[in-house]
Amino acid sequence: MVRIASYGVFGNPIVHSLSPVIHSVFARQTHQSIIYRAIKVPETSFAAAVKNFANEGGLGANVTLPFKQQAFDLTDQLTERAKLAGAVNTLSVRNGMVLGDNTDGAGLCWDLQRCLGSLTGSCVLLIGAGGAARGAVGALFAAGVSQIIITNRTFAKAQQLAQSFSRQGSIHAVPLNQTSELAPDIVINSTSSSLFKELPGISTHALAKALLCYDMFYQKDLTCFLGWAQSHNADLKVADGLGMLLAQAAESFFIWRGVKPDLLPVMTDIREGL
Ligand code: NDP
Repeated sequence: MVRIASYGVFGNPIVHSLSPVIHSVFARQTHQSIIYRAIKVPETSFAAAVKNFANEGGLGANVTLPFKQQAFDLTDQLTERAKLAGAVNTLSVRNGMVLGDNTDGAGLCWDLQRCLGSLTGSCVLLIGAGGAARGAVGALFAAGVSQIIITNRTFAKAQQLAQSFSRQGSIHAVPLNQTSELAPDIVINSTSSSLFKELPGISTHALAKALLCYDMFYQKDLTCFLGWAQSHNADLKVADGLGMLLAQAAESFFIWRGVKPDLLPVMTDIREGL
């Protein structure tokens, strides 16, 4: 009997995950025969769930909240970008070993490049200092960004993040109330503020010279952060994190199947389904 290649996404909650839809679209587009399912795991059973999945022949899985850190701790081998991010969003099972990677930063950079072309020499204002920000920094430097300024509601976390990446490139932390002096090319909101329909608290002056304002949160319509940004700089390009979500998924798909899906034709369909 030929067994269909099995993949999935671990999370809790997981019911709203777009990953099963996205990966089935990728599989159709690239003529791959796979199954991909959402796997809800109790918070204390992640390691057992991964072991069962591998024992049952599972070949790879995405990992979402709240398990990215646990995935980092349990893998047998980590890629350099997963080590830098301190978190794993992609597991691959090979010869009984579980390999951990992190494709979030690559997904973000793919989408920024889609919006702007090259990122080389850019200055980025990164708002937020949680897991998404940590996954972004190494990839931004690898994509040619020359300076990153981090700001966050809890300033100490921004300082810690800047400190931990200080050997990767030019990076420093600035309090939210001192962002009026900044003139970044790209502003990225990596906080959860838009989920709560709140603004992350940067000065409008920081938008004056920016080319792109990016919100990692995504929804069908413009997020409140992007609407606010556009109302203060009409020339600004804006984009939300749907492209990042698709591109990180495509990078995982490539790791597992060795073929890269074409994202542009599927973006509109996926947004309409939100
Ligand atoms: P974390 O919980 O690790 O970090 C949350 C961050 O948001 C912290 O910096 C926190 O600040 C800040 N924050 C939360 N609420 C507010 C608020 N009301 N005002 C200002 N700052 C706030 O979450 P993640 O880093 O994992 O995720 C952050 C966002 O990125 C989410 O919206 C998530 O959906 C999105 N994301 C999108 C992805 C994509 O593919 N598009 C991938 C990964 C994440 P403090 O430190 O002060 O608490």
